[in-house]
Amino acid sequence: MILPREKSLTSAQLAEVEGILAEYGCTVTVISGTTRTIYAISGDERDEEMVGRIEGLDYVERFDRIQAPYRLMHHASDLSSHKVRLGGAVLGEGFHVIAGQCTIDPKNPQYFLETAHAVKEAGAVAIRGGVWKPRTSPTAYQGDDKALDILLRARQETGLPVSTEVMEDRHLQVVIDAGVDVIQIGTRNALNYGLLKVVGRGTAGTKTVVLLKRGMHMGPVDEFLCAAEYIAAGGNPNVVLCPRGTKPELDGYRNFPDESISPLLKARTWAPVVVDPSHSVGKSAFVPFASLAAAAYGADGLNVETHVCGSKGIGDDPKQAITPDTLAQLVRDCKEIHGRSAGYRLPVQKA
Ligand code: PEP
Ligand code: MN
Repeated sequence: MILPREKSLTSAQLAEVEGILAEYGCTVTVISGTTRTIYAISGDERDEEMVGRIEGLDYVERFDRIQAPYRLMHHASDLSSHKVRLGGAVLGEGFHVIAGQCTIDPKNPQYFLETAHAVKEAGAVAIRGGVWKPRTSPTAYQGDDKALDILLRARQETGLPVSTEVMEDRHLQVVIDAGVDVIQIGTRNALNYGLLKVVGRGTAGTKTVVLLKRGMHMGPVDEFLCAAEYIAAGGNPNVVLCPRGTKPELDGYRNFPDESISPLLKARTWAPVVVDPSHSVGKSAFVPFASLAAAAYGADGLNVETHVCGSKGIGDDPKQAITPDTLAQLVRDCKEIHGRSAGYRLPVQKA
């Protein structure tokens, strides 16, 4: 990782750096952070001669060699002061909630629009809604491009950023063209390195936030951080980590709740942690408890399924969605708990 002395390298300086790296079989990706641009190296960056030549350039401040399987996401990386902004919120400062339906029903757009206004009223900073859905059965509802228009209408009416999941290159291109604010990578694709790379590259240099769910079969948290690294290494450091429960499920819950990894993640990385309590427990009656626990564990926010009339919803909404009233109460209570638990978090123990 190369940190320039100025905010960024000039094109002539970058060309010189690339020329040196190429002699050692390495390439560079430009990553625009909030305060500075950094230059991530791909390839074996341990060659002492190469490091010496780069460090000898008077416009280079440092050459960092972090010995972790993830370097950009590492808490000590040059990106550690990077801020992930979502609308008016800075994720990682305070407690912020993304809320909305699991699935946008294109046959009943009024529900989504009502939900969008209601979650805004309840204090959400962004609206989620599934346009395309990863379904276990190929005969289940798979989503519909028409739902994207409804998502964009909700953004226009509320003025809030919107979030939706992409599963393939075509979805990615459609949401990039539409300027969708948050791209969700679902649990099933959290290990789809090809998709993670194209999402990182496709959104490089933009304000687009990528919300990466934890893979339901992931074990060590480093596996999660490495998946996030693919997105950052593609050129987009606006990555948000979203624990959402893993397998095997806890009897009676949809998954095994994992909001408890929040402090561990926050010790290893600078990236914000936004917990999904909905897919974790899988039942609307239990979602508030998982949400409060996430706040107590020091997560930076929630990504929670909410519907004005869950029983009329599709996808997970009939089972999992909480009401906007419950959301409003949770936003208040989670903020308070998050604030109170802050005293236990400082000073941060880097693990
Ligand atoms: C969702 O957010 O609706 C979803 C499908 O999430 P996950 O990938 O966590 O199952
Ligand atoms: Mn869902």
